[in-house]
Amino acid sequence: MKCECGSEMKIEKVEVFPGLFSEGYKCQKCGEIEFNEEQMRKALLVKEKAIKIMVKRKLGKLGESLILRIPKSVEESLNLKSGEDVKIIVERNKMIIESD
Ligand SMILES: [Zn+2]
Repeated sequence: MKCECGSEMKIEKVEVFPGLFSEGYKCQKCGEIEFNEEQMRKALLVKEKAIKIMVKRKLGKLGESLILRIPKSVEESLNLKSGEDVKIIVERNKMIIESD
């Protein structure tokens, strides 16, 4: 498989989602990554398997702020502590809350 830059693409483990790796074609020169259909399927499977907990919650209101209550299962799974700093990342229609 050839890259648009003209260099050879090799099959490698590539980061398909933050922190998640699967197989894809990577250009040895410019670093461009491409997937065939099978590799895309595998990458999505890797992501599905990485989901440990999925819960639905209603947003609340406290003064002027929206609040989100963290379920016990999530608290325990990530060993979250009150007063701890977290990072909120907004990705398209998603909000990811990352603990250190
Ligand atoms: Zn290239």
